[in-house]
Amino acid sequence: MTLLYWHQLFQEHLQTKHSKSAITTFFKHLLAAFFHWEPTVLGLYPERELSPSQGKQLQKALEDLKKDKPLQYIIGHTEFMDLTLRVNPDTLIPRPETEELVGWIMEDHGSSALTAADLGTGSGCIALALKRYRPHWELHAVDISKAALAIAEENAKALSLAVHFHKGDLRSSAIALPNCKLIVSNPPYVSFSEKIDMQSNVLDYEPHLALFAPEQKPLYFYEQVFKLALKKLSKGGAIYFEINPLFCDDLMEMVVSFGFKNPTIRQDLFGKNRMLRCQL
Ligand code: GLN
Repeated sequence: MTLLYWHQLFQEHLQTKHSKSAITTFFKHLLAAFFHWEPTVLGLYPERELSPSQGKQLQKALEDLKKDKPLQYIIGHTEFMDLTLRVNPDTLIPRPETEELVGWIMEDHGSSALTAADLGTGSGCIALALKRYRPHWELHAVDISKAALAIAEENAKALSLAVHFHKGDLRSSAIALPNCKLIVSNPPYVSFSEKIDMQSNVLDYEPHLALFAPEQKPLYFYEQVFKLALKKLSKGGAIYFEINPLFCDDLMEMVVSFGFKNPTIRQDLFGKNRMLRCQL
């Protein structure tokens, strides 16, 4: 079968879920990931014949997309800033909001050496991006999930970025970290009441361990980070969080109750209160 045939098949089967242009984009990503073909191939060589094994790969991907599996999990990687990162269902797919959080940290801090920790690193996106753009920094990254840490370590190796990874549970205060000038975290912050509004590509595929705060305690992990920061953050150091806009006011109160100063909120590209910075 030809490339054109496959492209039409994708359009036909996915048209109720996605726009035409989104389907074409998915299709081109698959051609690149599976066969290393440039996006222009579809327009230039629509009559190119695919081998049976290539057809099989596309058929499987189409079945997965019909079941709402995220493209990033199908191809096994995604882009974060200018890093290509391996992802799988043990790690969240990094979001553009999180790129903005990294951008904020870089606006505030130049290249002079400092120690920073990323709590709940997942694929390693925050720690790895910081190490890439601030090579003199000492980066520590913590996650509770062994499987996620394995992916983060693989990413660090593939990108030749020296980040120190630690397995650690934010629910206990026994996390082996040095004193830090910066702590950054995108912890699980979705509340159970939001489940009903979530898309199946997120709810059915992304790790709940990384998405959901404990029931009735939407700010639980923030509280744990504040407790840890009181021990590990140096005077004048800062915390940067990705946050759930629904609990922004409660979080502001929590900042003050733990004795942190200068809480500042930033909106994401969608105009939602999505980031918070405070200082010790
Ligand atoms: N931003 C993610 C989402 O909306 C949630 C990330 C998180 O819980 N830290 O799906």
